[in-house]
Amino acid sequence: MNSQSSDQVIYLACWDEKTYPLKFYRVNAADLSRHVGLWRTIIVRFALFRLKMLGITLFPFVIVRGDDPVAGIILESGGSSSLMRHEFVHLLQQWKTGRTRFYFCYLWNWMKEFFKRRNWLEAYLHVQYEVEARDLASKPLHFQKLLKECGVISKKKSSV
Ligand SMILES: [Zn+2]
Repeated sequence: MNSQSSDQVIYLACWDEKTYPLKFYRVNAADLSRHVGLWRTIIVRFALFRLKMLGITLFPFVIVRGDDPVAGIILESGGSSSLMRHEFVHLLQQWKTGRTRFYFCYLWNWMKEFFKRRNWLEAYLHVQYEVEARDLASKPLHFQKLLKECGVISKKKSSV
């Protein structure tokens, strides 16, 4: 979109097996479409650089902004953080619901909340999938239970 955003570093993970945590790789925002395709790149750029979101999950990819070096080290080492748990919940939501249905329900929910609240950010925070992701990300034991229910194998015991 603009030259500034194309120089940015982002972290990318692809969930290709039923394991946790995700393995993130540093990639240049300019090269993103080679990894995730064009339409996902457009959505990611809009979400991370325009809306300033910290991360976005477009199954099977999780993409996180790379402007925090400490967060980057945690992601690259496969460590757990609240943000990673949050995005992982979104992965599981999309996996369970199906991508198309998930996106439809998500957008429908967001619009419904917007007409109630008349504020896009407020509405976004009240989307049911976001409420669930925030809730589970802040409760590691509940998060662990969800992983078990979904048959996700933890690579490390300490990772959750
Ligand atoms: Zn979210």
